[in-house]
Amino acid sequence: MLEVRNLCAAYGGPDVLSSVTLDVKAGETVAVLGANTAGKTTLLRAISGLIPKARGHIAFEGTALMGRPAHAIPGLGIGHVPEGRHVFPRMTTLDNLKMGAFLHRGAGDIPARIERVFALFPRLRERQGQMAGSMSGGEQQMVSIGRALMGQPKLLLLDEPSHGLAPIVVDELHEAIGAINRQGVSVLLVEQNAMLALSVAHRGYVLEAGHVVLAGAAAELSADPGIRRAYLGV
Ligand code: ATP
Repeated sequence: MLEVRNLCAAYGGPDVLSSVTLDVKAGETVAVLGANTAGKTTLLRAISGLIPKARGHIAFEGTALMGRPAHAIPGLGIGHVPEGRHVFPRMTTLDNLKMGAFLHRGAGDIPARIERVFALFPRLRERQGQMAGSMSGGEQQMVSIGRALMGQPKLLLLDEPSHGLAPIVVDELHEAIGAINRQGVSVLLVEQNAMLALSVAHRGYVLEAGHVVLAGAAAELSADPGIRRAYLGV
C-alpha cells in the first residue's frame, strides 16, 4: 500500500533521514520506533508532503507522492495525526470533527462518519459541545484521531499518540488503534514507547539517526534481547 524507497530529507542542513526504505501493506499496523531526534516525525511529514527538501521515492497504492502538494495527500486516502495533536482549540469537538471531512474525497455521509468516531471514542460524544482547547490531553488526542478518521483514510499516520498521557488513557488509545485497524484502516504508528507500539503492530522498523537499523515482525522485535535492552528499556 505504502512504499518508501531511499527517502532522504533535510531541513536546510544535513540529512535527517538517510535512504530510508519501508513498506506498509494493506491491513497492517506498522510501528516506527526510535529515540528522540531519530527522524520519526520527519518520516511522517515527508509522506504527507510537508518536507520540501525530501528526495527519493514514496508511492501510495501505486501513485507517486513526491512533489505533490501536502493538501493533495489526504484526498488520496492518507490521514495524518500530528505530534502534539493540533486540535482547533476554540472550536467544539464536533466542529473539529467536521473540519476533518472538509477536504474529503467524495461527498459521503458526514453524520454517519461522526457516529463512527463517537462509537470509537464515546467520551467525544459526551463532550461534543466542549471547546477542544479545554479538553484533557487524552481527549484532545481522541479529537485529533477522530478528525483524521473523518477523511475516511485508508492509511492513518499516527505521530506519538501516547506522548505525555497517563497510562490508563494510553491503554485506551491503543485499544482504539487496534479497533481502527480491525475496521480495515492500515496504520503507520510512530512511538517512543516501543513496548506499547509493538503490542499493537504487526511489524516494526527501528530508526536511528535517520537510518533504518532494524526491521522485523513485532513479536521478533519485542523478543530480541538486544532490542529489549536498547529500545524497550528492559
Ligand atoms: P521526537 O520524538 O523528538 O519528535 P523524532 O524522531 O520525531 O524525534 P524529528 O522530529 O523527525 O525526530 O527530528 C529529526 C531531526 O530533524 C532532529 O535533529 C531535529 O532537530 C531536526 N528537525 C526537526 N524539525 C526541524 C525543523 N523544522 N527545522 C530544522 N530541523 C528540524
